[in-house]
Amino acid sequence: MNHENQNSPYAPPTVLPEQSFVPCPQCGQQMDDGDLSSSAAIRWRSYSDNPVQTFLTGGRKIANSKSGFGFRVPAHFCGHCRLMLIKR
Ligand SMILES: [Zn+2]
Repeated sequence: MNHENQNSPYAPPTVLPEQSFVPCPQCGQQMDDGDLSSSAAIRWRSYSDNPVQTFLTGGRKIANSKSGFGFRVPAHFCGHCRLMLIKR
């Protein structure tokens, strides 16, 4: 092994950042890490909720605005079956 190269500030990192494998619970493929974003509030409207209440409130808001840059919520997305898991 070349020790000069290892001590050089231009040498590539010896420890690569660990890629976290998050398997899709539906199809088993690797899920992508990112965020669900929108210029409008992201809301959840359950079919089991009272329709009048849902109409009045617009549903339960599941993402907060990031100081004028829209709404974002961290999530995992499966590009194979399109399942999305929203993180806390
Ligand atoms: Zn999937």
